[in-house]
Amino acid sequence: MFESLSDKLSGIFDKLTRRGSLTEADVEEALREVRRALLDADVALDVVRSFSDKVQNRAVGANVIKSISPGQMVIKIVNDVLVETLGETAEPLNTEERPPVIIMMVGLQGAGKTTTTAKIAKRLKERNKKRVLMASLDVKRPAAQEQLAILGRQVEVDTLPIVPNQTPLQIARRAAEAARLEGYDVVLLDTAGRTHIDEPLMQEMADIKSYASPHEILLVADALTGQDAVNLAKNFDARVGITGIVLTRMDGDGRGGAALSMRHVTGKPIKLIATGEKMDALDEFAPKRIADRILG
Ligand code: GDP
Repeated sequence: MFESLSDKLSGIFDKLTRRGSLTEADVEEALREVRRALLDADVALDVVRSFSDKVQNRAVGANVIKSISPGQMVIKIVNDVLVETLGETAEPLNTEERPPVIIMMVGLQGAGKTTTTAKIAKRLKERNKKRVLMASLDVKRPAAQEQLAILGRQVEVDTLPIVPNQTPLQIARRAAEAARLEGYDVVLLDTAGRTHIDEPLMQEMADIKSYASPHEILLVADALTGQDAVNLAKNFDARVGITGIVLTRMDGDGRGGAALSMRHVTGKPIKLIATGEKMDALDEFAPKRIADRILG
């Protein structure tokens, strides 16, 4: 087990307080520990720098050097800035517009898009009493549409019947028509992924967006994504315009730094957290819990 950042900071400042006075250099040393902890938690380098600047400014403003318990004060500032950056409150999915509400799921292959689509469908059906329809727009991976149908049967949510050889836009049109005709409240569109970001993928997502005019575009991202998280979130947000983020694999042993990186570069809320393969393993985002995890 490694020592938590809070313990380390308390240690540093306790030593210093006994010496009688603190200097700017002492605070700088503490900030170095903060930066190291964030990098260990897989927060992207640029984000670490800007985070550290924010903490420093606030430490100067709060006059940490002259305070009675500088260690506690710095720990509180780090925590506050972390929670502020992550977003203080949980933002719900936007499902209360005039139906059918369209939710588009985007992300790289293997991020957990299809699994998360089914989890969200189950949640909206059970908690919000919505009539939900799911449709897979992934025509690249042969088994993708069938995979969603299997999950649909498992969570008892309808999936759009599979018609071979249709384009993603044709499937999106069928889904919208079915929703209007059959009175669904919410349509979840599960899109195709790729192993990495490329232009054809971004173009396909942009086309689906302009065609389907979704109310929500959720970026599904693996919490174990390290330095790539910034690129991923930036690209999807710039080209497709996401409305929120779902972080998957939070049950893994990653420290969740991707949450901070992606929120920082896009300003878009992390709406949900996936914590396993089971269909119930989906939680509301809780900034405090992630902050604690990042700080170790
Ligand atoms: P997609 O390619 O983005 O649609 O990814 P899938 O939904 O097919 O998921 C890929 C794999 O990750 C599957 O084996 C899922 O069961 C698994 N998975 C998805 N979400 C989570 C999660 O939150 N935690 C864990 N441990 N596994 C997950």
